[in-house]
Amino acid sequence: MTAVRSQMLEVVRDAYPETFEGFGPSKPLGESIFSGRTPHPNEVLNLFVQQKLASALPMAYYMATRRGPSSLMDRNLPRNATLSPEVLQSAITGLMTLRELELNETHRMIFEPSGSRPCSAPNCPSRAPTGPAALEAYRKVFDRIVGSSQLGTKVLQVPEFYENCGGELQCVGPGICSGCVERWGSWHAELRKKAWAALPGVFGLRD
Ligand SMILES: [Zn+2]
Repeated sequence: MTAVRSQMLEVVRDAYPETFEGFGPSKPLGESIFSGRTPHPNEVLNLFVQQKLASALPMAYYMATRRGPSSLMDRNLPRNATLSPEVLQSAITGLMTLRELELNETHRMIFEPSGSRPCSAPNCPSRAPTGPAALEAYRKVFDRIVGSSQLGTKVLQVPEFYENCGGELQCVGPGICSGCVERWGSWHAELRKKAWAALPGVFGLRD
């Protein structure tokens, strides 16, 4: 029995990592690791709360909140996926904080790049960062990163800066050069680390 339990905990630890290093974007994470019926993330959160799986809670909270309030408060869910008022409150508070962080930081990253000179790549709209072409491109990139259904959050997700245009990969913001995308990519990587480190605090898991 102990062996089974420790094996199960191992699996959980892998899918609900404790450290940012354990959070590989290409790894199966969260509720997708369960075989058979994929449980609702609220159900997993409830289970971990009941079992006092403290190390897995920040990630479990994140998985439930990233879908937004309508998923957290869905009234059609079975009992075991319905959150208690306390858990729901922590989840909503955390979601609002993460979303604010995501919006502010992404805005800063794209629209107010501090200390960086205008891009020097030929034809990149960022050469004139306040020009209409740049602003239009920036807006599209911004929407791609923070735009999310049901007002959830994508703050821990690696953003997709490129889309497939007739077999060719192009930046979501028309004309933006790969240098700008790279700069944004590394900024966003820092944002993900920052957001990860904030998880226990925003969900009230630190006393
Ligand atoms: Zn550029």
